[in-house]
Amino acid sequence: MLKIKNYINGELLKPRSKVWLDNFCPANGEVYGQTPNSSQEDVDNAYIAAQSAFPSWSQTPLEERCRTLLKIADLIENNIDTLAEAESIDNGKPITLAKSVDIPRAASNFRFFAHAITQFSSESHETVGQEAINYTLRRPIGVVGCISPWNLPLYLFTWKIAPALAAGNCVVAKPSEVTPVTAFLLSKICIEAGLPKGVLNIVHGLGNTTGQAIIEHPEIKAISFTGGTKTGAHIAKTAAPMFKKLSLELGGKNPNIIFADCDYSDMLNTTIRSSFTNQGQICLCGSRIFVEDSIYEKFKSDFIQKVKLLRVDHPSKDLTDIGAIVSKSHLEKVLKYINNAENEGGKILFGGQQICVEGFENGYYMEPTIIEVETNNCQINQEEVFGPVVTLMPFKTEDEVLQMANGVKYGLSATIWTNNLQRGIRLSNQIQAGIVWVNTWMLRDLRTPFGGVKASGIGREGGFEALRFFTEAKNVCIKY
Ligand code: NDP
Repeated sequence: MLKIKNYINGELLKPRSKVWLDNFCPANGEVYGQTPNSSQEDVDNAYIAAQSAFPSWSQTPLEERCRTLLKIADLIENNIDTLAEAESIDNGKPITLAKSVDIPRAASNFRFFAHAITQFSSESHETVGQEAINYTLRRPIGVVGCISPWNLPLYLFTWKIAPALAAGNCVVAKPSEVTPVTAFLLSKICIEAGLPKGVLNIVHGLGNTTGQAIIEHPEIKAISFTGGTKTGAHIAKTAAPMFKKLSLELGGKNPNIIFADCDYSDMLNTTIRSSFTNQGQICLCGSRIFVEDSIYEKFKSDFIQKVKLLRVDHPSKDLTDIGAIVSKSHLEKVLKYINNAENEGGKILFGGQQICVEGFENGYYMEPTIIEVETNNCQINQEEVFGPVVTLMPFKTEDEVLQMANGVKYGLSATIWTNNLQRGIRLSNQIQAGIVWVNTWMLRDLRTPFGGVKASGIGREGGFEALRFFTEAKNVCIKY
């Protein structure tokens, strides 16, 4: 049985807590490993290691830091098959997705920030009339905490760790205890890459024990967190009295707005992806689909036909479109939302049920689900389900759809399908979201700012925004 260990001060260690958690495989419901549930003592040790490594790592020449991070990127790529298989077993996602998206992106995160730090510059201002010049130093913060969720495990874990390390910080990081395996494999990669001891420390465990110890630690000066909005609020409340720097990437309830003048077939194929990729467990999925009424019936029928063809099966099979839901409790939560939607008057157009996959009867599988709703104010349109479930609703005017798009507490992303450029720009300007895609979905460029507004979070990561977050600015003014 796989026994995961913490990575502290360059070593793979059992938890001091001596407490272990079972690790389930969502595809068959079986326990296949054990993960530490690390205590405050484990987090303290990780902090001490990070703190001791900081003076040297923060002073390491950029070229050398860059070389080490590139080595990690190379090793992730060299181990793509092992990592993709581990991610698929741990999370339930199709192995084809892990191999084509998750793992390559983890390597890109390291490669991108390794180079970005060498291009990161700060401002200087000449204060005309005062005979003074200002320049801004951007220094690493010290020891920072990175906490990530289970949906894109290595992808999101490295999205935080890579810029934090590139900027010269030392890190105490915690992956979700639901999907810890690729973070454990990353520990081994970091050892092989020669990352100096203590620069990165990975402690495994539950949010309310290990995670809590990280956010409460008075000397961990910044927290980069991706996860649910409720947890984000708890972290903000805990961190505020200690004045920690926070970046919170939280939930979403993203609108997918379809106008009749769009490129129909591109829209239809992309909408299948934006609805159900990774079993709908991506914060950017377009879970509320609004369709202009002149094409509503056609879209509804074509969409159902296409969704019927999606294959729900074991994640290791090449032809699987939809794998297993990450955990039993999450599957139950998603099914409950569907049940509530029906009780509120939603009409299930397709799916809605748990599925039994032959040979894997205890796995957590369910049908992709389409629900037609009559109002944007129902629970299924207001709360984040985070599963393979979308709602459909027609609209008549731009104003009406804009109101519905903005009529949720979240504001992470939005997609607009139209060939009317003016309309695309007009709506993009008015939609309350951190990221808007016009005629595409999840097309990412790592240089761009990433994050949400309203209950979807605070702060931006990505590109120089991430490097700004992971550094402290100090202005020096010299009168000459
Ligand atoms: P959670 O908020 O439950 O957990 C996220 C991470 O925080 C996990 O590592 C979790 O540990 C940890 N955690 C939980 N409680 C605490 C605590 N008290 N102190 C410190 N850490 C804690 O989210 P999920 O893992 O369920 O992930 C799904 C959510 O993530 C969805 O809402 C989704 O929208 C959001 N998300 C947002 C993205 C964005 O970029 N905006 C991207 C991807 C996902 P543990 O797992 O052990 O409980």
